[in-house]
Amino acid sequence: MSWGFESDEDVQAELDWVETFVREQVEPVDQVIEHAWNPRDPVRNALIKPLQQQVRERKLWACHLGPELGGEGYGQLRLALLNEQLGRTHSGPVVFGCQAPDSGNAEILAHYGTDHLKKTYLEPLVEGDIVSCFSMTEPHGGSDPTGFRTTARLDGDEWVINGEKWFSSHALFSEFLIVMAVTEPDAPPHKSMSMFVVPADAPGLTRVRDVSVWGHEEPVGTHQYLRYDDVRVPAENLLGGRGEGFAVAQTRLGGGRIHHAMRTVGLVQSAFEMMKRRAVSRTSKGTRLADKQLVQEMIADSWVQIEQFRLLVLRTAWRIDRYNDYKRVRADISAVKAAMPKVLADVAGRAIQIHGSLGISKELPFGKWVMESFHMGLADGATEVHKVNLAQALLRGTESDDGLFPPYIRPTLQAQARERFAEVLAEVADEGEPLR
Ligand SMILES: Cc1cc2nc3c(=O)[nH]c(=O)nc-3n(C[C@H](O)[C@H](O)[C@H](O)COP(=O)(O)OP(=O)(O)OC[C@H]3O[C@@H](n4cnc5c(N)ncnc54)[C@H](O)[C@@H]3O)c2cc1C
Repeated sequence: MSWGFESDEDVQAELDWVETFVREQVEPVDQVIEHAWNPRDPVRNALIKPLQQQVRERKLWACHLGPELGGEGYGQLRLALLNEQLGRTHSGPVVFGCQAPDSGNAEILAHYGTDHLKKTYLEPLVEGDIVSCFSMTEPHGGSDPTGFRTTARLDGDEWVINGEKWFSSHALFSEFLIVMAVTEPDAPPHKSMSMFVVPADAPGLTRVRDVSVWGHEEPVGTHQYLRYDDVRVPAENLLGGRGEGFAVAQTRLGGGRIHHAMRTVGLVQSAFEMMKRRAVSRTSKGTRLADKQLVQEMIADSWVQIEQFRLLVLRTAWRIDRYNDYKRVRADISAVKAAMPKVLADVAGRAIQIHGSLGISKELPFGKWVMESFHMGLADGATEVHKVNLAQALLRGTESDDGLFPPYIRPTLQAQARERFAEVLAEVADEGEPLR
């Protein structure tokens, strides 16, 4: 039997190296760059590229991808431990070549791309030379993809795409976009859409607006509202078969969601560390904050929440490795996704409270993290939708009862037990005084 909560020695040594590297080399970079995803920023390139080289030399580059794609082929459990270390930084995922949405887009291209698409887009993407975008959500609603209206029609040997997409993150920096469009309008909704690679400079693709969000300080919003007007792409840019868009999307979303959660563990741990340091350093009315019971409650509640979440993430990662079957772990991933925003909002919120006015100021990151908890409650699917998925999976196969009362009420259970143990009860009753 093997069951444990410790890493093997060699894995731990690697994690220790990552921890020091992230703390000493990556965290300072976050203080001086605007956006780690922007390949056109000379400051970002001057600082991040040498770090990426160190990661490659250490054989930690793109660990989520198999060696045939230039990665290290880590399982999800090992990735969880690695991502935890990267999560407390903005640039960490880019430095380690595992940033969203590029990591998921690379998986899609690896699974479904032609040799030409792999050469043109996958290779530079995996090398970290270009950035990509996943363009799925539409302005009239993202939670119900069966209602998407963007279409793609085959015209000779080209697909012609028309429609609008909303919140296409990083389209601004991207070399290509992976786009979902209706190709089979008469098929059942989940078989009606297909996925395409669209070069970012394709004629007909325009940015309606650069949408910015609270919590992010970039000068230009990085979530693009896009319009596709007769955008033409070669037939080979179809990823997977016609009508397989949903299946293709799941290739990336399963992994993407759990990787976000792994990094969130690192983020909340970092908020927790700061919270503890402030509690033991600051005094009020003659005692440390750490000595006040209501502060202690915030520390205790945070630790319990973080550990519960971390264990759920690790268990889910373990199940992904164990079963290698997305359908089987879909509910686990939904559970992690639904839990993630609340852990971050609660812990970052308590970190603000313990730091007082300093905590709410822009001199500390907690306010940004509280806002990020709302991003997390929407990106890759709203929390409510994940809770519904989870509940449906948990309820599936549960027996229903016909009677007025369920069969597990005490009178019924006692009657059954009395009948079962009737002989023993009768013998004992003859021998002694019953209690009543
Ligand atoms: C930071 C960030 C980055 C993003 N990046 C991308 C990206 O790169 N590419 C991309 O395509 N999209 C992206 N999105 C969009 C994201 O996928 C959508 O926001 C999400 O799918 C929800 O869609 P919506 O915003 O249209 O909300 P709606 O669909 O309008 O839903 C609004 C609310 O209604 C409720 N609701 C909806 N449906 C149900 C239901 N079935 N049961 C119960 N309650 C429900 C929920 O409370 C939900 O939050 C990003 C979003 C954020 C916040």
